[in-house]
Amino acid sequence: MLIDIGVNLSSHRFRDDRRAVLQNALDAGVEKLVLTGTSISESKETIDICNVFSHDFPNMLHATVGIHPHNADQFTRTASEKMYDLAGEDAVVAIGETGLDFYRNLATPKDQQESFIGHIELAKKIGLPLFLHERDAATRQLEILSDYREHISKAVIHCFTGDRATLHKYLDMDLYIGITGWICDMRRGCDLQAMVADIPINRLMIETDAPYLLPQNMIFKPKNKRNEPSFLPWIAKKIAIHRLESVNEIIDKTSENAKVFFGIE
Ligand SMILES: [Zn+2]
Repeated sequence: MLIDIGVNLSSHRFRDDRRAVLQNALDAGVEKLVLTGTSISESKETIDICNVFSHDFPNMLHATVGIHPHNADQFTRTASEKMYDLAGEDAVVAIGETGLDFYRNLATPKDQQESFIGHIELAKKIGLPLFLHERDAATRQLEILSDYREHISKAVIHCFTGDRATLHKYLDMDLYIGITGWICDMRRGCDLQAMVADIPINRLMIETDAPYLLPQNMIFKPKNKRNEPSFLPWIAKKIAIHRLESVNEIIDKTSENAKVFFGIE
């Protein structure tokens, strides 16, 4: 069994064929998906998707509730209360995605930090793990995480793309690391390929981040370039090569980690 811990299934690019996408995932052995919430409305839509498909795809779909750093200007006291309510839904297994993105700075750094800290406090109050994003903001992200470390139960840095020093600082805080198809990219993925073996096997999880980041090692790429959860095995294969481990070991251990992390069975 594979578990994809990061899928943007509420994306408009899946609007017309979600059922087929879920069936494709199952056929590829990807039996559980954690759908990413990136705003209040997307978090709600994500929970709705879990509920709509719970009959035909039992125990397959779970959701996170959060406001992506790009949308951090949405974070207010009212938004936090709304997230608290949404987090009470059965499908919800984590708070996020949240964190800092100083690469694009689509929201101001000030708004991003307030939202990030608000999410940490919310996760503590509810007792859920954190699903974290970070791009070009490692120094400040690490400072905030270390200030609040005792309040955080578990957290994963999803789609890790940073440098080796940053990776080890996250690991020293006992955080989990999510690896996407970024590692499959011949050019951009080189650094990650060289350091993926540094991640202890019990801290590693895998994700497609679909519809983004189509794995470039796929032999037959879809014409529309859309990534799907059914392509997760390509990421597992690439990780196995660079860790000198078997694909089955990567699949088994990352699924076991995801079950423990998100508390899903
Ligand atoms: Zn992200």
